[in-house]
Amino acid sequence: MSDKAIFLDRDDTLIEDPGYINHPDQVKLLDGVAEALIELKALEYKLIVVTNQSAVARGIVTEKVLGEIHNRLKQLLTEKGVFLDRIYYCPYHPDGAVAKYRKESNCRKPNPGMLLTAADEMDIDLGRSWCIGNSSSDIEAGLRAGCKTILIDLPSHQKQLSPGQPRPDYGAVNIKEAVNIVKKSHRCPDAAVVTTGPTSTGQAEPVSQTTEQVAQEAEPVSQAAEQVAQETEPVSQTEQEQPQSEPVELQTRPPEQGIAGDRTEQLLNNILRQLKRMQRDDMFGEFSIMRLMAGVIQIAVLFCLLITIWFLMSPNKQDISVLIALGFAMVLQLMSLTFYIMQGRK
Ligand SMILES: [Mg+2]
Repeated sequence: MSDKAIFLDRDDTLIEDPGYINHPDQVKLLDGVAEALIELKALEYKLIVVTNQSAVARGIVTEKVLGEIHNRLKQLLTEKGVFLDRIYYCPYHPDGAVAKYRKESNCRKPNPGMLLTAADEMDIDLGRSWCIGNSSSDIEAGLRAGCKTILIDLPSHQKQLSPGQPRPDYGAVNIKEAVNIVKKSHRCPDAAVVTTGPTSTGQAEPVSQTTEQVAQEAEPVSQAAEQVAQETEPVSQTEQEQPQSEPVELQTRPPEQGIAGDRTEQLLNNILRQLKRMQRDDMFGEFSIMRLMAGVIQIAVLFCLLITIWFLMSPNKQDISVLIALGFAMVLQLMSLTFYIMQGRK
């Protein structure tokens, strides 16, 4: 029987990405990576790194030094009891400065070449395998190879997929949550049957009620895609919702107040979404003073939002009071985000 594998991106998935790494001393494992990989090994997955290394084509690093960098990665993991099964890298780039490496390549993600080669050489069943990475090219490569996919979106590097980009099966705040998703799929075997199709725009389509339940717990990207749609078209959606919930108020409210109300609602929604995300990050993150302070400030933000809502519902509503409370909430939210980003980069 073929083996199953976890295909792992390297930069910002396993190690910190300060830009182009060109020396072994720059290799620094991200928090929780070793522990996460140990758990994946215990589930009998092969651990295979698949990484684009256009730095070779750009002349920033040689293949020899890249080998030393990867040896350093293996060494750091070995010291913590983790053994990578193999590392595949793609040194090519069509705009490379080094003629030898200047070309299009099927191994360069989002092409699935590295995954397909690994499957062939290591007898991997791609349908039982996962691809985990922090960029849309990782996700597209995984989907095209027929793997299930998890997009890691670090709090300090938050990115939003544009509507045209391929949707991963799941989203995670870090590799620890990604492992949790894989483990859940093992606890609920039906959930592992997710149709992802080998297309560049493949999207999770849970095939049973059980799958939907697990998908909900792990925040699948079909849900995340809706969030992106909310963020890209917030006004139009709010316009659709308001006639149902507040038809009378909409008729009597001046247009300026309606727009201001929409913006306030949009802002509140964004803050609440951020709070939810930080809660997930807290669940799967390491304790630190920065995180604690961010959490305390977050509570203050909630308090300010409650005051804002109270002012909004007050019969003697005063716009200035609403704006002041909202202003405090925004400033505190920025402070909290700053602490989270500092924590993410420490
Ligand atoms: Mg990456």
